[in-house]
Amino acid sequence: MSATIEGGCRCGAVRYAIPGPDLPRTYACHCLTCQTWTGSAFSLQCVVPEAALEVTGTPHLYERVSDDGARLSRQRGCAQCMTRVYNTNSARPGMAVIRAGTLDRSDELKIVAHIWAKRKLDGIEIPAGIPAWPEGAPPAEFMAAMMK
Ligand SMILES: [Zn+2]
Ligand SMILES: [Zn+2]
Repeated sequence: MSATIEGGCRCGAVRYAIPGPDLPRTYACHCLTCQTWTGSAFSLQCVVPEAALEVTGTPHLYERVSDDGARLSRQRGCAQCMTRVYNTNSARPGMAVIRAGTLDRSDELKIVAHIWAKRKLDGIEIPAGIPAWPEGAPPAEFMAAMMK
């Protein structure tokens, strides 16, 4: 097994690597923004130290200020194929949130937490024992679930 975990956009113009060998733990967000932004039932994300993320290619930068003006989100993705790859947020300095579906081994990911579960679609079941919150999770509880 490779010591590095790799991923990238659909066309391959933007690639990244994070330290392995274990895949990062992944959470699902069922909020409206994630559904709209992914065009899917939920987003799949994992949090890694930004310093551990090695990006090749030139990601397009899209900046968004939260509605209350308190947080700046910097989304990065591929301008060729329009895949969103990762983002950083001023609320979580030093951390990068990777769109987990962009990992080459995305089929091996384990979803260890669900947020905004009250918007979960019929037909998607959260297994017993997997932490889920109706809306956003309190940060300490959420981090405990992600680190377990
Ligand atoms: Zn691309
Ligand atoms: Zn969301």
